[in-house]
Amino acid sequence: MPSPLRALSFDLDNTLWDTPPVLLRAEAVLRAWLEREAPALAARYDGAALARLRAEVAAAAPARAHDLSYLRTEALRRAALASGYAAPLAERAFGVFLTARNDIVPFAEVPGALARLARRLPLYALSNGNACVWRVGLGRHFRAAIDAAMAGAAKPDPRSFARLLAVAAVPAATLLHVGDDAEADVAGARAAGLQSAWVNRSGEPWPAALPRADLEVADLGELVVEVERRLGT
Ligand SMILES: [Mg+2]
Repeated sequence: MPSPLRALSFDLDNTLWDTPPVLLRAEAVLRAWLEREAPALAARYDGAALARLRAEVAAAAPARAHDLSYLRTEALRRAALASGYAAPLAERAFGVFLTARNDIVPFAEVPGALARLARRLPLYALSNGNACVWRVGLGRHFRAAIDAAMAGAAKPDPRSFARLLAVAAVPAATLLHVGDDAEADVAGARAAGLQSAWVNRSGEPWPAALPRADLEVADLGELVVEVERRLGT
């Protein structure tokens, strides 16, 4: 018998919206901006070269490798300096990327499901990425949002869930974490003592090597049904 629910936390990318096309578009928006504002940088660093630079930054600073905003900004700063631009260009370029990266359309059922769940329980966001629930227009449903930079680690690292629990101020066993990633979300939540729900939108088989989630749902509509059943309507 699972503990009574006192709070819910949500992964963002690929749980509340489809992320790969957003990242592709954000990269394209950044590329167009660089070609216009910093043509020497754009000519010298294509997308793959900037990705290699981010990997070098991460390797040189493993303690900050979970902080994707830092990796992007620092890689752009190095590319700017190497191409004859001043360092602040990197902040502007990252801002362009981040705006496009937060230009998302949630899955159709998500706004209604979050609104309904938020009437029953406090909701929290727990993301490894640099999308922001307020910037994407879903902030009103959430009490707080924790990202990897704030937690000092990325899921499935237990420090990520520890930060969430400190903010939510509820016992681990009463918090249900909801996400699409079997490793980061489900195994991570389980290891930290939380309940877990796997959002499996495409009907994938569960990775056999991992213990199953407490709950499996195809979308947040199914999650609402399960949570309301447990809370009693
Ligand atoms: Mg995800």
